[in-house]
Amino acid sequence: MKNILEIENLQTSFFTHVGEVKAVGGVSFQVGVGEAIGIVGESGSGKSVTSMSIMRLLSYPGRIIGGSIYFKGKDLVKLSEREMQKIRGNEISMIFQDPMTSLNPVFTVGNQIMEPLMRHQQLSRKEAKAKAIEMLRLVGIPSPEKRAAQYPHEFSGGMRQRAMIAMALSCQPKLLIADEPTTALDVTIQAQIMELMKELKEKINTSIILITHDLGVVAEICSRIIVMYAGIIVEQGTREDIFYNPKHPYTWGLLKSIPHIETEKKERLIPIDGQPPDLLKPPAGCPFYPRCEHAMEICVEQRPLYTDLSPVHKAACWLLHPNSPKVERGN
Ligand code: SF4
Ligand code: MG
Repeated sequence: MKNILEIENLQTSFFTHVGEVKAVGGVSFQVGVGEAIGIVGESGSGKSVTSMSIMRLLSYPGRIIGGSIYFKGKDLVKLSEREMQKIRGNEISMIFQDPMTSLNPVFTVGNQIMEPLMRHQQLSRKEAKAKAIEMLRLVGIPSPEKRAAQYPHEFSGGMRQRAMIAMALSCQPKLLIADEPTTALDVTIQAQIMELMKELKEKINTSIILITHDLGVVAEICSRIIVMYAGIIVEQGTREDIFYNPKHPYTWGLLKSIPHIETEKKERLIPIDGQPPDLLKPPAGCPFYPRCEHAMEICVEQRPLYTDLSPVHKAACWLLHPNSPKVERGN
């Protein structure tokens, strides 16, 4: 499979008045053409900062300080803002957690969907309008003709979310980054949106990066899963690797914290005890050691190296590494 995106050692920091917060501390992964991958982890793990880095939409005082992001062979880190604008909203689209980040309050919803279609895809006004209405209908907005002429403030939160999704999908992007796209929506709409993303992937071979804390959603459409913790990737592998053969203690914790589909809502989530580390002063060793029940001396002192468990499955944990002191394995 050819890769559409290749990220190598991405490092993004926020330079605050109290010091440098290393939000992403050296992340490498690839996305194949037409592939859907999931990035999971608790909030603050660096998932959203990774996606904002790809879009080059980091807000001050955030900055990419190292690494590369190759998209179709071009390093996005090196592009000018002007060159990025041609890619953003056209070849790479993003669905945000908060729709107001991407909807402009002074234009009608219809116009906002039409604008990139006319600019990037050279559709006429009439064609763009028809397409915008079709997209609004597709994401489940009732009376789309009427709704297209309204402003974002006339939409409810859930409808704004759907309008933004319509906008992101209408350009048929090569890469779609969806950051918690359905968290605010009810279950039926959630399922419809997921279905829409699946369709897009199948019909036009869009690659997808789905960012979420919800492993259940990821299982539906992603063939590969990346687990992030404290700004680094602690484990990545196929969906089967992560669900049936997870190797990192943090992944074990995440899996315990998902409700089973059958007993959904009835079962209480088991959160992982403790807090993620302060990225202003990240620990020298494994960032998970303060919360890890398997931690050993080496974990406090040294960053765990990645162990390759298969060509696509790897994890950064001293329990797995051949150079770590022999330990009693526990699970
Ligand atoms: Fe736990 Fe050590 Fe593995 Fe980190 S490296 S996850 S502390 S066992
Ligand atoms: Mg986030």
